[in-house]
Amino acid sequence: MELLKERIRRDGVILSSDVLKLDAVLNHQVDPALINEMGREFARRFREERVTKVVTIESSGIPIAFATASELGVPMVFARRKKTLTTDQDCYCERVPSFTKGIVTDLMISKSFLSPDDRVLVIDDIIANGDAARGVLRIIAQSEATIVGFGVAVEKDFQQGARTIRELGVRLVSLVKIIRLEADRIIMEE
Ligand code: 5GP
Repeated sequence: MELLKERIRRDGVILSSDVLKLDAVLNHQVDPALINEMGREFARRFREERVTKVVTIESSGIPIAFATASELGVPMVFARRKKTLTTDQDCYCERVPSFTKGIVTDLMISKSFLSPDDRVLVIDDIIANGDAARGVLRIIAQSEATIVGFGVAVEKDFQQGARTIRELGVRLVSLVKIIRLEADRIIMEE
């Protein structure tokens, strides 16, 4: 997606060879026109899957998931992050490490928002090692809903996350693929 690439090139800040700060694009400020464009693109790519729910993880996945759900005309559910393990019988819960924060959090979704009849499209902002992604897929598996696909705005190709999700047999679509981060250059797939 050219528009997203341009914004990443213009506003992305290389923090290290592993981490690209995207606060001005995805993680702190968002441009509704850009987010809506992403929503349209994901909806176009997954429309034939008869999605009944879009699922994401708070907080940075929410705007993109909302735009996608709005295009598809289905509800959006976001997994909440909890700092302590909840033993709530009414929730699906999974523990995941957080790549950027260096801590462990629990993801939870109320059982009332996912059912075996659902066909779920997962949307997230960035995939790195894939811990958050695998956590949310485990939650959906607990609910016995069908996972029809996974859309991420940015795939960091030099980390394992996207590969591990595809190896699980899930169709993962990314809008921009980052090949590597150099000291002063973001190398993206053409
Ligand atoms: P993972 O669980 O795939 O290792 O990391 C996923 C989450 O960590 C993403 O949803 C994103 O919020 C955050 N993250 C991972 N790598 C980066 C990065 O290079 N830049 C930013 N801004 N966030 C990242």
